[in-house]
Amino acid sequence: MSFSNKLLNWYHIHKRELPWRETTDPYYIWLSEVILQQTRVQQGLPYYERFVEAFPTVKDLALAPQEDVLKLWQGLGYYSRARNLHKAAQQVVASGEFPDNFKDLLELKGVGEYTAAAIASFAFNEAVAVVDGNVYRVLSRIYGIATPINESAGIKEFKKLANQLLDPKNAATHNQAIMELGALQCVPKNPNCNICPFQTDCVAFNDSRIDELPVKSKKTKVKNLFHHYIVLDTPDHKTVMQQRPQSGIWAGLFEFPYLESNGPILLDELLQLDGMRELMELRFRESGITTTSLPITIYNPEPIIHKLSHRKIHAYFWVLQLDYHVEEAISIQDAFQKPLPILIHRFMSSYWNSYL
Ligand code: SF4
Repeated sequence: MSFSNKLLNWYHIHKRELPWRETTDPYYIWLSEVILQQTRVQQGLPYYERFVEAFPTVKDLALAPQEDVLKLWQGLGYYSRARNLHKAAQQVVASGEFPDNFKDLLELKGVGEYTAAAIASFAFNEAVAVVDGNVYRVLSRIYGIATPINESAGIKEFKKLANQLLDPKNAATHNQAIMELGALQCVPKNPNCNICPFQTDCVAFNDSRIDELPVKSKKTKVKNLFHHYIVLDTPDHKTVMQQRPQSGIWAGLFEFPYLESNGPILLDELLQLDGMRELMELRFRESGITTTSLPITIYNPEPIIHKLSHRKIHAYFWVLQLDYHVEEAISIQDAFQKPLPILIHRFMSSYWNSYL
């Protein structure tokens, strides 16, 4: 039996019923693919449903304010995906139609080879193989390929093999099936080889190399960052927030004014930090807050640790409970409505929990 036939037989028995598998609408397929990158199905499903409800057509998404899109995305991380999704929707609307092939899909902002292959095959049955983390795992194990999957030679080799194995008549189902095999059966740890249709031919199984495959070349070193957020809490429970620049991490999201240090610091050191004086004197001059007139209720809770792909953020929230009002402050309710990095949302939820 061919690779594809074995795969399709397995898929018809084991596949999960998921809403984006019930449609060939490229917009819904695209939404699901972008949401599911770096996200598990269980976590992504409610986001998919909320996006479909809020923006039932690509035009609705294109016309929405960016803040609404980011707010709906909140908690999924990798916010550039949401910004690109929004820009690409505007591209689609401007061009008048959704691209219907792999090559044209690649022109959309944020759409790489994987997403273009997924949309082209699932929506239009184009014979182009998807290669995601699941596919790398399945193929590297069955064929015993140890070329690192995060280097260009490996990317090329796996793409070629995946396309050779693809059944061109059943491109959509074949692609869904190989990803599902990796998601449900050939999982990273303790795959269920005893009921796997590929067990007899699987090199990793027969040579006891399952834990070694796939191979990834050494990861980039994780950088530690120390963020110090200055949280104002006025008597009428208002605070000051600022928007991040439109590029870099959390672009366009809202947060408290903040400074960075090279390591953990004490209050005295915070006051000496480069930029602290300027922050107080320029930013809060109108309210009369300066480094020399800080309210004594300032305190420093334990940092919240937030891990990104190559960065580990140690976030300190320095709360200033003020006994006077600040002109530019907004209500806590309004602050919660802003698109926020999940780290900021988590702090706000615990500090202002009674105002939610
Ligand atoms: S036999 Fe085991 S390692 Fe090989 S493809 Fe099946 S589940 Fe994966």
